Amino acid sequence: MKKLIIGNWKMSLSNEAVQTLAENFAGADLGNIENAQLAVCPSSVHLQTVINTLRASQIGVGAQDCSDQDNGAYTGQNAASMLSEIGCNYVIVGHSERRQYNGETNALIKAKAQKAIENNLTPIICVGETQQERDSGNAQSVVESQVQECMPESQGNIIVAYEPVWAIGTGNTASAEDAQTMHALIRKHVGNKVPILYGGSMKPANAQELLSMPDIDGGLIGGASLNAEDFISIAKVA
Ligand code: PEP
Repeated sequence: MKKLIIGNWKMSLSNEAVQTLAENFAGADLGNIENAQLAVCPSSVHLQTVINTLRASQIGVGAQDCSDQDNGAYTGQNAASMLSEIGCNYVIVGHSERRQYNGETNALIKAKAQKAIENNLTPIICVGETQQERDSGNAQSVVESQVQECMPESQGNIIVAYEPVWAIGTGNTASAEDAQTMHALIRKHVGNKVPILYGGSMKPANAQELLSMPDIDGGLIGGASLNAEDFISIAKVA
């Protein structure tokens, strides 16, 4: 299985910065990256620009969220069909920032993943425990319930991203052994065909160790994906 290296640009970039970054990605020499599939997830207002800029490259594009509804009066939301229509390949669902700031539940995330599959998008379903849940010894049970409750019923490609909340944007990374333990647990639920990505302060300096673990199939990368050189050097490690 090729390693998947996916960048989450969040709400971090201006229009001009997105254009520059996408052009850097489009012009990057990826010739010797054979073992990795790359993708980036810009904010929804920048999707079309990035899709156009990366059209001739090997780099896929994903959205950061989609609606659990098909269409209609849902102000501010983007239907999975719309994302698919403009050329997205992936959509992140259930990122911990959406769970935290938008009150997203496992049931809602499952419904979003379902809509993604029905519209030929690959959902990247995010799971992960908070620091408090880890400290109280509940990390594994929390992640197991998230995986079980977020799994869509329809058949289709899915990706799971294990992103311990305490590691996101903090510079603290899970140790490769701790991440592998959690990935092996998730593997029991999703099987061998579902790629399981690690996310949480992955950067060039720690990518090698994490990506060499048997059940770590790639990375979901926030901060380090805002720099084309760092992101591509993580892909080269893969
Ligand atoms: C993320 O938000 O998905 C993420 C992994 O962020 P960072 O790499 O900055 O920790």
